[in-house]
Amino acid sequence: MNYQDLANLVFPDVKDINYYEEKYAKRNLEDGAIVTRFAPSPTGFVHIGGLYQALVARKVAKQTNGVFFLRIEDTDQKREIENGVTGIVKSLQDFDMAPDEGQINDTEEIGSYGPYKQSLRKEIYQAYAKYLLAQGKAYLCFCTPEDLEQMRLKQETAKVRTGYYGVWATCRKLSVEEMAEKVKKGEAFIVRFKSPGREDRKIKHHDVIKGNVDFPENDQDIVIIKADGLPTYHFAHVVDDHLMRTTHVIRSDEWLSSVPLHLQLFQELGFKAPKYAHIAPIMKNDNGNKRKLSKRKDPEAAVEYYKQEGIPSDAVKEYLLNIASSSFENWRRQNPELPIEDFDLQLNKMSVSGALFDMIKLLDVSKSIISRYTAERVYEEAFKWANKYDEELKEILTDKEYALKVFGIERGNKKPRKDIAKWSDVKENIIYMYDKNIPEYPYQVINEKEDIKTILEAYKFNPSDDKQTWFDNIKKLAENLGYASEVKEFKANPGMYKAHVGDVSTVLRVALTGRTNTPDMYEIMQVLGKEKVEKRFKEAISKLN
Ligand code: GLU
Repeated sequence: MNYQDLANLVFPDVKDINYYEEKYAKRNLEDGAIVTRFAPSPTGFVHIGGLYQALVARKVAKQTNGVFFLRIEDTDQKREIENGVTGIVKSLQDFDMAPDEGQINDTEEIGSYGPYKQSLRKEIYQAYAKYLLAQGKAYLCFCTPEDLEQMRLKQETAKVRTGYYGVWATCRKLSVEEMAEKVKKGEAFIVRFKSPGREDRKIKHHDVIKGNVDFPENDQDIVIIKADGLPTYHFAHVVDDHLMRTTHVIRSDEWLSSVPLHLQLFQELGFKAPKYAHIAPIMKNDNGNKRKLSKRKDPEAAVEYYKQEGIPSDAVKEYLLNIASSSFENWRRQNPELPIEDFDLQLNKMSVSGALFDMIKLLDVSKSIISRYTAERVYEEAFKWANKYDEELKEILTDKEYALKVFGIERGNKKPRKDIAKWSDVKENIIYMYDKNIPEYPYQVINEKEDIKTILEAYKFNPSDDKQTWFDNIKKLAENLGYASEVKEFKANPGMYKAHVGDVSTVLRVALTGRTNTPDMYEIMQVLGKEKVEKRFKEAISKLN
């Protein structure tokens, strides 16, 4: 009995690895093309950190005419949630980040390097496990969970590293015959990697993001095939990223410390290892403490949150690129109109430590992006959002023609309005353009009832006036009623006037819209039309009585 016989005994039906090596041939891509992936587990909602990784991975693949694929890592079937895969696929679609290859819904996939769902690749992993076993680079372990627990307790008492290594690796000492004997008796087993490493030796590794890092070698005989026949993450990663011809593994930096093990697995399998780029997590400032954005504590950790709030995916992506690269902001300043696809993201310039997530900044980015949308686009997106989340807004938007005029106010010019950050803001931002209850807002500098009434009664809106004439008219009104018609003049002789033309405008604005801050009032009056403007002033007067 030798290891080859043992391998045949354990995995009688699996194919020779040459079959897979040929089937998943080297990709025919141009030099420098990056092949990379997003490899989530369907164990919960998609985290903004996952989207961030996917964005970075997809971006560098696209930039180099490479390939970005989606692999579903569902080997931990106990932790899988219902609709987990659909949620992942859907999130990428929502953000317009569909992969070139991989799952396109729960059951279908595209691409010739699949299956892209790990649970469907069982026999592939077993073929490679057999390959290692046949060379004596892996062995069978018959330790029960209880044995392992006992061992851990002993290790803790002895204050040594926990794990399956060195003298603690009991089954490593079994002979091939002993292993075969146990298998034949029907004893349950798992397959362990026989690590050639030593903890007192160091390896040097160059991470594309983190730079040079030193680690002790791996000496743990980790599990590669579990009792259910499925692989562990480590083994699946190495087999999959080899066969799918990944050039760059871009993943969360919680995996950085596994690099020594992964490199060892690549080495022992005789594969060329990919490059690794470990991304720092997105952090949050929590009362002065920097911590990871948490699934449990922070609603904004879930990508679904952005959908619900109606923050456009363009804005989220743009903001994430801001976090990813310190040169993005400068690039954006120089190229305000270009799509983010034109920005060149350099992995090696990404931040080594976790960037802070700043919602205010994100909403600012979003305001700028929405300010560049056409009225038509704002309408479409707001309507789509309202259709799902806000019945009242949906109803308000039924009259599309009028809504387009409303959204067209101060849009399409050099300094477009920047008051909408998310679709859930829209109602609040446009409600005064509709005959809903205009909220009562306190008048400001001019706040004596009689003064306000006098202004409102004297004001005449003439829709055919151009903007200059319209404004001159307000100035004249101010002057006639004893207010300064120029702010300058008021400032020079404050004692001479009760207030100035700006304060008169504010009276009109508050009466008309119920607020002090709105986009251009001339445009607002134009959109409302003479009748409505007059009606609103009349109502405002009657409220004063
Ligand atoms: N399934 C792993 C995770 O979600 C993937 C890590 C990787 O990208 O290799 O953390």
